[in-house]
Amino acid sequence: MGRAYKVVILGGGVAAGYAALEFVKHGINRGDLCIISAESVPPYERPALSKGFLLPEGAVRLPAFHTCVGVGEERLTPKWYKEHDLTRKTLLTAAMETISFQILIIATGARVLRLEEFGVTRADAQNIYYLRDVNDATKLLEAMILLKGGKAVVIGGGYIGMECAAALVTNGVPVTMVFPESHCMARLFTPQIATFYEDYYTSKGVVFIKGTVMSAFESNQNGKVAAVILKDGTRLPADLVVVGVGIRANTTLFEGQLVIEKGGIKVNGKMRTSNSSVYAVGDVAAFPLKMYGDVRRLEHVDHARKSAAHAVQAIMTPEKTSDYDYLPYFYSRVFTLSWQFFGDNVGDCIYFGDSTKGKFGAYWIDKCRVVGAFLEGGSKDEYSALALVARQRPITEDTEALAGQGIKFALSL
Ligand code: FAD
Ligand code: NDP
Repeated sequence: MGRAYKVVILGGGVAAGYAALEFVKHGINRGDLCIISAESVPPYERPALSKGFLLPEGAVRLPAFHTCVGVGEERLTPKWYKEHDLTRKTLLTAAMETISFQILIIATGARVLRLEEFGVTRADAQNIYYLRDVNDATKLLEAMILLKGGKAVVIGGGYIGMECAAALVTNGVPVTMVFPESHCMARLFTPQIATFYEDYYTSKGVVFIKGTVMSAFESNQNGKVAAVILKDGTRLPADLVVVGVGIRANTTLFEGQLVIEKGGIKVNGKMRTSNSSVYAVGDVAAFPLKMYGDVRRLEHVDHARKSAAHAVQAIMTPEKTSDYDYLPYFYSRVFTLSWQFFGDNVGDCIYFGDSTKGKFGAYWIDKCRVVGAFLEGGSKDEYSALALVARQRPITEDTEALAGQGIKFALSL
């Protein structure tokens, strides 16, 4: 005999935590909600894993960063789930138990892409680290602490690569970064923006090897990586390797059952999939981005939180819930730096501010409208103003004046 719940959330990450809080706010009956998770701890704010968790001083540890502290909401500890009678089960398949539902919310997030998938051999050595969950972060942290005098190589110039490289050098570990693009964070940053961060990292001792990929690992007799070999034959000695070469949404369980698009589970503006009892949220969802009239899958925490809350609203108060109208928002914090981006990075880029003073930004102009806005070193009010620009997409024909006005343009809206 299996168990039956009104709502089952599959996946116990960020989106699941925010969905649970939203259900409780909507007064879901006790015992009606079950979260099935592959992780042994309740949902937590995943972004902490590549930031505060890896700090040499003042590091954050669970239970301090359970959801939903990321937006200043209640911290949902194991006690909270117990008090609200929300069942949390670890891996349904492992337990071989049948759990039925009236409504299923898929919040399975994503898995890391492994180097083996790019044909790299010996990529299963012990001292190669990926970072997706708190177990990965704990292993990386332990290795970093033990790595007295050792060197690290970071593969990938995206979010994980940049944040982990910063954490490693902050912990006193020399880092070489290797990635195929001509500059870091290539999907978002322009070469000019990237130059600021690369120079800053270089000043902290990070070495960049750009425009190439690794071809093989050289291992020692203990089965550990001793060096990373690049395509051109360069040999980089390595005592620890961190890999961040992207992710794939966890859709496998549903392929053939639900419509898949752009690598994710296709949902409508209510986060509902092609099966009317099934919703998908967070990294795994390919959703209509109303502002731009296209379908996208976003791999960022703000969307995970908001899409989860939106699905719950659509389930609990359908008459009051319109279509999800999301404004893309990405951010990162490394060293003492901090940037935020809102909107779409298409069209021409207009720069403002003074990067030598650590405060600079950019607007993206597409068809005479400001569609995207980026700022390093801004204040809370300035970031809110940028969000407004990206949301309103004001018309601007005088790009020189816009560059001159800089952040004042956003603040004057
Ligand atoms: P996840 O939080 O990944 O949760 C998915 C959950 O589902 C996991 O617990 C997983 O174990 C579980 N699961 C998967 N398959 C199954 C299954 N079959 N059965 C049961 N459970 C399953 N974004 C930002 O915007 N800013 C940041 O600074 C930032 N930092 C990040 C740092 C790190 C180290 C990582 C890994 C990501 C970061 N992100 C950041 C991205 C952000 O964390 C994700 O976009 C967000 O976690 C997505 O939420 P989710 O609930 O969709 O997926
Ligand atoms: P990203 O997609 O950000 O970056 C992956 C990087 O690796 C890209 O630059 C990619 O290049 C490059 N790459 C791909 N293949 C190879 C290869 N064979 N060798 C070397 N480099 C390669 O993914 P991450 O792994 O950095 O991050 C994983 C997830 O975590 C993402 O969803 C990200 O959004 C999330 N995250 C977000 C953070 C934030 O928002 N602040 C912080 C940390 C993680 P190319 O573009 O050419 O494919």
